[in-house]
Amino acid sequence: MISEKDLEHISSIISLSDAYFSCKPEKPCVIGVSVAESETNATSTNVTSSTEADAVSVADESLAADSAAGGTDDSDALENIARKIAACKRCRLCEGRKNTVPGIGVPNPLVLVIGEGPGADEDASGEPFVGKAGQLLDKMLAAINLSRHTNCFIANIVKCRPPNNRDPMPDEAEACRSFLDAQISVLKPKMILTVGRIAVQNILNTTTGINKLRGQFFEYRDIPLLPTYHPSALLRNEDMKRPAWEDLKKFRARLEEITGLSFNPSAQTGRNG
Ligand code: URA
Repeated sequence: MISEKDLEHISSIISLSDAYFSCKPEKPCVIGVSVAESETNATSTNVTSSTEADAVSVADESLAADSAAGGTDDSDALENIARKIAACKRCRLCEGRKNTVPGIGVPNPLVLVIGEGPGADEDASGEPFVGKAGQLLDKMLAAINLSRHTNCFIANIVKCRPPNNRDPMPDEAEACRSFLDAQISVLKPKMILTVGRIAVQNILNTTTGINKLRGQFFEYRDIPLLPTYHPSALLRNEDMKRPAWEDLKKFRARLEEITGLSFNPSAQTGRNG
């Protein structure tokens, strides 16, 4: 078990913007399909009607169910979901996207991290959290022995970039929800960490503010969930780093309890330790 002294040490490292946390040199599984590839499957450039969207949603659920029944390999199931996302025209966000951003990480993660939606860097690359906020998120995760390379999956509430980085609208989040739910069914994470107001409010269907919600445990589909601040907020406001670190320590303690794993801060570990 890690000592309080170690935790404080890591905390001080987190607060250094140039801190470096090493990751295993394994490539994360980029679960993505480019728009160019998806367009070859799409029959229309119009945003789909809600009836069509419902039909797709049912298909998403059965896709996840197939996987849950062991009918397909988890990576294949995630790729199938990513393909559907790449072809999706359920809402207006499809109109301005360069790439869809389904998620990244390992197919059998300990932890699912849920953010808000892609920004410009993510839209350009098709990967979530690749900008400055993404770098800080990786440091936050590394401080509690988590990594998109070994034991996490990172996804967003919406899979396409909202214009000018505005908040996703409720109907956009709703249109994307079955994709996230299908991903959760396949990934079966032990715990969920949401970052920022948009993620937690959408997942828990609440309008309560992030300052009230953060640092408390909730459940989503029987999976323990803890909200904390978004790394972009931490970049704007240094004072939020301390409470965010408290949230991360709490999150890790519960993860250790649930999994029976004991984390060594100087070693990256996979799902089995
Ligand atoms: N912010 C998010 O919430 N998600 C991303 O993928 C990038 C930035």
